[in-house]
Amino acid sequence: MSQPVPSPAAPLANAPLIQKARSHLLQNYKQQPIVLVRGRGTRVWDADGREYLDLIGGVATCALGHCHPDVVAAAHAQLDTLWHVSNAFYSQPSIDLAAQLCEWSGLSRAFFCNSGAEANEALLKLARKAMKDRGHPERFEVITFERSFHGRTLATVTATGQPKYHAGFEPLPAGFKHIPYGDLDAARAAVGPTTAAILVEPIQGEGGVRVAPEGFLKGLRALCDEKGILLLVDEIQTGMGRTGIPFGFMRDGILPDAVSMAKALGNGLPIGAMLCREDVGASLSPGSHGSTFGGNLVAAAAANAVLKVIRQPGFLQEVVAKGEYFLAGLKALQGRLPAGRLVEVRGRGLLVGLEMDRDAPQVLARLREGGVLGNAAGERTVRFAPPFTVTREELDESLAIIERVLTAL
Ligand SMILES: *Cc1c(COP(=O)(O)O)cnc(C)c1O
Repeated sequence: MSQPVPSPAAPLANAPLIQKARSHLLQNYKQQPIVLVRGRGTRVWDADGREYLDLIGGVATCALGHCHPDVVAAAHAQLDTLWHVSNAFYSQPSIDLAAQLCEWSGLSRAFFCNSGAEANEALLKLARKAMKDRGHPERFEVITFERSFHGRTLATVTATGQPKYHAGFEPLPAGFKHIPYGDLDAARAAVGPTTAAILVEPIQGEGGVRVAPEGFLKGLRALCDEKGILLLVDEIQTGMGRTGIPFGFMRDGILPDAVSMAKALGNGLPIGAMLCREDVGASLSPGSHGSTFGGNLVAAAAANAVLKVIRQPGFLQEVVAKGEYFLAGLKALQGRLPAGRLVEVRGRGLLVGLEMDRDAPQVLARLREGGVLGNAAGERTVRFAPPFTVTREELDESLAIIERVLTAL
């Protein structure tokens, strides 16, 4: 394939930038071959000037769409005031954010970091420390689920129940056990004298958008209470209203001991958080855990603005309504496609997976050519996580493109 030679005077274009990327970026991602240069709401533009409906929004981070005016204003104001002070000092954006998140989640304490994996690291360290403080140093193991995804650091990738992410990185840290998702009997059988906690996603996002059976988290809560271990919930993808309720665990009417969150929290600015109950939180005493960039003022100011929008009365009802509308539209088109092409439509709120009869990357390439962006969640599942601000017209436009593309595959 011949590619234009880049020159300093050349206007932005995909091909020369991608050529440069292939020379210098670590080749650890399977990137779609476009360079995105601008975004507004649900729409993004690539370096060739082509427009797309972005139904994946920074992999579920840009929950209020690209460049939401309230978030832009909050981040700009903070950029002009003070960027970072570290945790050697207090700062107002992180104090306000902690208060908002505790009030909204029902948990009592907040710790800030910069990514999902770091938030899960905080959960794992909290579980071990809390068990030691309770006089159970032998309880160090964390039970997680097959097909789960918890991050890429050595501990969180080991927590991740997908062998493909472990390959080549052995020896893995000790203290993790994977069991089938949605199976309470398996969970009961797995808890032993060395178990410290169970870590669970309300919906397995990266693992293929698999929704836990209703009551699963409630059953896990009861099991953890009975055994004196912690229930940790990974809300990195499902939190912040993604499923139409503030946090996925609320569907089962339970309160976990601690939760992690990240993706949508900063609408694309890097910020993660670990929220926990008062009693377990006391285990992470002064000096026991930390993060230099955690609580960064610009990221926290953006997150405060995100929460303010999402917590407006009626906002999440709209997420529920639009999610139902999108899912119903996808299920209806499933019936119009050649039999077996779209194997299953799964999801809740604005987190949707289409399990296809073929590998997801081929489908994603056709969708992109048609003007719709998604990403892969597991081998054959196309994932959509549109912004909460998506309009019904944009969903209709997307459904028409998806139908045309999937029909012509
Ligand atoms: C994205 C994700 C993570 C990892 O977050 P990073 O910010 O990439 O470290 C962990 N758990 C779940 C459920 C996720 O969706």
